[in-house]
Amino acid sequence: MTSEPIRTTCPYCGVGCGVLVTRNGDGYSVRGDPEHPANLGRLCSKGAALGETLALDDRLLHPEIGGRRASWDAALDTVAWHFRTVVEEHGPEAVAFYVSGQLLTEDYYVANKLMKGFIGSGNIDTNSRLCMSSAVAGHKRAFGSDSVPACYEDLEVADLVTLVGSNAAWAHPVVYQRIAAAKKARPAMKIVVIDPRRTATCDIADLHLAIAPGADAWLFHGLLNHLRRENGIDWAYLERHVEGFGAALAEVADLSIPGVAERCGLDEAQVAEFYRLFTATPKSVTLFSQGINQSSSGVDKANAVINVHLATGRIGKPGAAPFSITGQPNAMGGREVGGLANQLAAHMDFDAEAIDRVGRFWQAPGIARRPGLKAVELFEAVADGRIKALWIMATNPVVSVPEADRVAAALRACPFVVVSDNTRHTDTAALADVLLPAAAWGEKDGTVTNSERRISRQRAFLPLPGEARPDWWMVTEVARRMGHQAAFPYAGPAAIFDEHAALSAFENAGRRDFDLTGLVGCDYERLQPVQWPVGADGRGQARLFADGRYFSAGGLASMLAAPARGPANPADAGHPLVFNTGRIRDQWHTMSRTGKTARLLAHIAEPYVEMHPADLRRAGVRAGGLARVASAHGELLVRAVASADQREGSVFAPIHWNGQNSAQARVDALVGAVTDPVSGQPEFKHAPVAVTPY
Ligand code: SF4
Repeated sequence: MTSEPIRTTCPYCGVGCGVLVTRNGDGYSVRGDPEHPANLGRLCSKGAALGETLALDDRLLHPEIGGRRASWDAALDTVAWHFRTVVEEHGPEAVAFYVSGQLLTEDYYVANKLMKGFIGSGNIDTNSRLCMSSAVAGHKRAFGSDSVPACYEDLEVADLVTLVGSNAAWAHPVVYQRIAAAKKARPAMKIVVIDPRRTATCDIADLHLAIAPGADAWLFHGLLNHLRRENGIDWAYLERHVEGFGAALAEVADLSIPGVAERCGLDEAQVAEFYRLFTATPKSVTLFSQGINQSSSGVDKANAVINVHLATGRIGKPGAAPFSITGQPNAMGGREVGGLANQLAAHMDFDAEAIDRVGRFWQAPGIARRPGLKAVELFEAVADGRIKALWIMATNPVVSVPEADRVAAALRACPFVVVSDNTRHTDTAALADVLLPAAAWGEKDGTVTNSERRISRQRAFLPLPGEARPDWWMVTEVARRMGHQAAFPYAGPAAIFDEHAALSAFENAGRRDFDLTGLVGCDYERLQPVQWPVGADGRGQARLFADGRYFSAGGLASMLAAPARGPANPADAGHPLVFNTGRIRDQWHTMSRTGKTARLLAHIAEPYVEMHPADLRRAGVRAGGLARVASAHGELLVRAVASADQREGSVFAPIHWNGQNSAQARVDALVGAVTDPVSGQPEFKHAPVAVTPY
């Protein structure tokens, strides 16, 4: 490595910060890239500690078959033989890939192409199903396309930023830093936080609505009705650019501030103040995240948020938009390639025209013709034997999928499980028949797309350790061994990206939102961060829908009329508390990287459940003592932390600990496999539990 810093991106959250990596003696130092538009030089604690997480301890460095070291040829032949044999004997629906928002776009693209184009099944789904699929479905219903209309700069120029279901201070820290800096520079800017917990994000809030868990749709429906009553609707915008507004307004016509306050467990004065602020502030951004998405009515909630922006024409303008922020570094890139089972490719669905178009582009006559199984359904199909061969890439579903104990049992019973990962010991790797060693951050090249549609390069600065290989390479090798040599000719990620860009541009001519026309044949090595769509001039677009034209057939946006509904499983006498899960500031997912640095572990060193002191007393649990948290599906044994920031009746536990680093702390073993009927996203924010002393 030369003394010139390597320009790459952070591998953690969906903010997508640019980082500069410099050789520093025996190690590497990492700092924020001042020229990257996402972070302008900022980093959070996790990004700043990246240089401390490069050690090879517990890396998977060689392929294994049945727990024994094997050659790459033997491992790849074994994978290809099993997948080909299962398809021949049971059909293409009997195999599946479960992939990850940690994959780079190029990895994702070839995995999607192999499964949907050449195996001929829609059965590729991603762990991004767990974090943003409700926002995707909400966008598609409202805009006719999965388009995030805003950019980070909107959060700085807005006069009102409402964060709903988002603890950005911990989960998207650089976005939070940007909002906090804007608020400091312009104290008149207002911040509203809507969250059952008083989180660190509330430190900059003018107003915190500690809403009852799952009640968000009532709050936003009530806001829509308030806008109508208070002359806050932009009727001219609705008449020209929106359909469905009559039904949407009729749906909410009975909601009053007292009724909303009662339903949401809030003071009437607080609800009135939020409604007053929103009505009076044209430059208004509503940032929504997992508190909206991870719900059995997450799509309707996303549409309730989008409705108030369409009704006021607050979209596509500087400082005015609904803004879904993604959890993972490349959740957006996965959406682009079609990594969700209900998408085909390049933001095209399984309609006849798209199937024909993508089939011709890929020269894939056996292309899948219908959507595959979404994550929770996929593991149910593994459990009941419909799926007989499964390849899990860069994710750990035995920790992160609801009813995680059932997922583990399903994998144990599955005839053939492949896991490609860079960590040797995970709860999922322990159940694999074949392990494939994947390249990690710093060792692989590709692109990612962040929450504001910005595509950035991720670059290698380390040699591949042991026999680790990039994910795109292993998928390509398996595809070739399954007989698809001509369709998988790639020598590297640049060729894959070029094909991905060309597919987005194929027979597009501005009809589809996802369009990389200007990046076809680009200089991949010098690719600068750019927000799609990218026109023929190579320029990106900061905001969408400024002209009021949407990607639906008629060019109109839609307001959705959906009655608000509560969580699928309310608390009851046996399970009187509501279990809420989420991230902590200094850890990422299952800690395989962030758990390697003492600096990050020092923030919070062990798993815990946070409870209101009154709930602790009622449960007979001592603050600081051990508590058993049990649902109908599983239980945790963790330390009880008392906090008045926690809403009474609601408890919180972090998602990071797992069977490898704590005996009984897999929170998703407790979460029921209840999903949104449209998106398939699970209800991680509302599982009824009982807490008792240990
Ligand atoms: Fe930026 Fe997120 Fe990485 Fe922090 S974790 S440096 S906010 S991308």
